[in-house]
Amino acid sequence: DAVIREFSRLPGIGKKSAQRVAFHLLNSPEEDVIALARALTALKSNIRSCVRCFNISEEEECGICRDPQRDQKTICVVEEAHDITAIENSASYRGVYHVLGGVIAPLDNVGPEDLHIGELMRRLEAEGTKEVILALNPTTEGDATNHYLAMLIKPKGIKLSMLARGIPAGGDLEYVDQVTVSRALDGRVEL
Ligand code: ZN
Repeated sequence: DAVIREFSRLPGIGKKSAQRVAFHLLNSPEEDVIALARALTALKSNIRSCVRCFNISEEEECGICRDPQRDQKTICVVEEAHDITAIENSASYRGVYHVLGGVIAPLDNVGPEDLHIGELMRRLEAEGTKEVILALNPTTEGDATNHYLAMLIKPKGIKLSMLARGIPAGGDLEYVDQVTVSRALDGRVEL
């Protein structure tokens, strides 16, 4: 039936295991089954984008945006929310973030309007941002996006820098070790 079909789509669960789990649930108290269903629903519905920085969040604003210890006037711009994890693991950054949701890629039909660039510009105005650090991946698209953002941000008189090239060209921030991320942050070049 439907339950067995859904279970057997999960990684590592074949039809036999799916049947075993379904049979176990059939024989479980109703409240246990309801608790499981609730937990599964909550898994998806509680996770959303931070309204400010588009980081993954369980609240309206993510933990980093709400942290009074963080420097709210420094924004590090990244491609995807998982890049934040890479930078946080390096433990060398105390500002806040802004997730673009990708990079400008004309070949894939991704233009500036498809990214959270308008939202970034509004934040710079509203939050009195003092410094922006561009931490996009060192790809052709990342470079093009850096230039585009520099064109928008520089005239505002905000300090603007990008990560030093400690990160191998074409490398993904996500897979670079913490020391390299930390060095790239320290050696960031002003634009
Ligand atoms: Zn946030």
